[in-house]
Amino acid sequence: MLDPFGRTVSYLRVSVTDRCDLRCVYCMAEDMTFLPKAEVLSLEELDRLCGTFIGLGVEKIRLTGGEPLVRRDVMRLVRSLGERLGPGGLRELTLTTNGTQLAKHAEGLFAAGVRRINVSIDTLDPAKFNAITRWGKLEQVLDGVFAAKAAGLAVKINAVALKDVNEHEYDTMLAWCGEHGFDLTLIETMPMGEIGEDRTDQYLPLSLVRQRLSKQWTLTDTDYATGGPARYMRVEETGQRLGFITPMTHNFCESCNRVRLTCTGTLYMCLGQDDAADLRRPLRDPSVDEDGLRRAVLEAIGRKPKGHDFIIDRASRPAVARHMSVTGG
Ligand code: SAM
Ligand code: SF4
Repeated sequence: MLDPFGRTVSYLRVSVTDRCDLRCVYCMAEDMTFLPKAEVLSLEELDRLCGTFIGLGVEKIRLTGGEPLVRRDVMRLVRSLGERLGPGGLRELTLTTNGTQLAKHAEGLFAAGVRRINVSIDTLDPAKFNAITRWGKLEQVLDGVFAAKAAGLAVKINAVALKDVNEHEYDTMLAWCGEHGFDLTLIETMPMGEIGEDRTDQYLPLSLVRQRLSKQWTLTDTDYATGGPARYMRVEETGQRLGFITPMTHNFCESCNRVRLTCTGTLYMCLGQDDAADLRRPLRDPSVDEDGLRRAVLEAIGRKPKGHDFIIDRASRPAVARHMSVTGG
């Protein structure tokens, strides 16, 4: 699948639910209203749609959410997508999770063919973790992370860089990740959805973080790429990687290879734009066959925009009205 700017689309992120068992302050308001079940695609519908994308050249699928592991029976979808791994099909099936349910599912994920996962942990301080996630217990998440490691999954920790909240902890987190063999990616906050707080108070540019970390650590640029937007450095002291996702300070759109499917079958061609295509209608229309569904997908890819225009300042509303939990980051 080629978009109008010559970029090959080979990566599909699928938000399998908009629900979550946490309420991270930068992601959701505490009193979120979730979608009625009838609007949400069944696991079979999600599987079929993923199959259509794979048939069109998608090689990597990441399940996300909301929290993917809180969707009932989600492992059924993981297993059926796992069966699509292999020549002519998927090269990678992976997942981004908050880790709360990971202890239960780590072995099943590995058995289904998942080899790498991202776990979001913004701080290693239990009280702060609880404050950021509103409802989370760090200990439960760490149990999940170590269960994943024991099951053979490579773990990357994702942390959102939050001014005054975790900004002085990246040293500790780098050391901890080094000790346990995890990579670490830091993410700048993006202005998505009303969260009941002022985002200018949260935004911390990663260029500043790099300057600070360089005082303690030897960070060497690498050309390592996972097909994602992160730029990776090698942390010479630990041998692990440190990634930066910098939508605000660095435009990562020129190499964008992905599109995002929500749990209602809406396809967003860009994380930072509102244009979308409704794939649920053709999916549920008995008169539309597989060819028709493919045409609907290709028509949407033909509208993939050049890039986003995120801005964070006090006067602006969120760049897009939907929350990150709709498309899963
Ligand atoms: N619940 C899962 C989790 O937390 O990993 C998957 C979905 S979550 C929306 C995916 C990633 O987006 C998480 O790493 C989260 O920290 C990040 N995220 C959420 N809201 C964000 C925002 N406004 N700006 C930047 N990253 C955000
Ligand atoms: Fe839930 Fe993930 Fe959003 Fe936190 S970042 S509220 S865990 S979806």
